[in-house]
Amino acid sequence: MSAATCSRAGCRDDALWQVIWRNPRIHSADRRKIWAACDAHVAYLRDYLAARDFPVEVAPLESVGEAKGAQPSDAAAEARS
Ligand SMILES: [Zn+2]
Repeated sequence: MSAATCSRAGCRDDALWQVIWRNPRIHSADRRKIWAACDAHVAYLRDYLAARDFPVEVAPLESVGEAKGAQPSDAAAEARS
């Protein structure tokens, strides 16, 4: 389930991506800002930040939940063998 909405102004689409960035001039090295982005705007938002020389990375929103869910089944598979 995705409750996040795209961060692009005027866009109401469900976000599928997270754009993780920081502004080195005002944020300390361990600060992270996260924008949610839909499929259509993830490249726009990433380029917007990259054009300002901000460190930026993109990750799928859903992988957060999937990564957590993968561990119990892995443990169960190991327990069976
Ligand atoms: Zn959007």
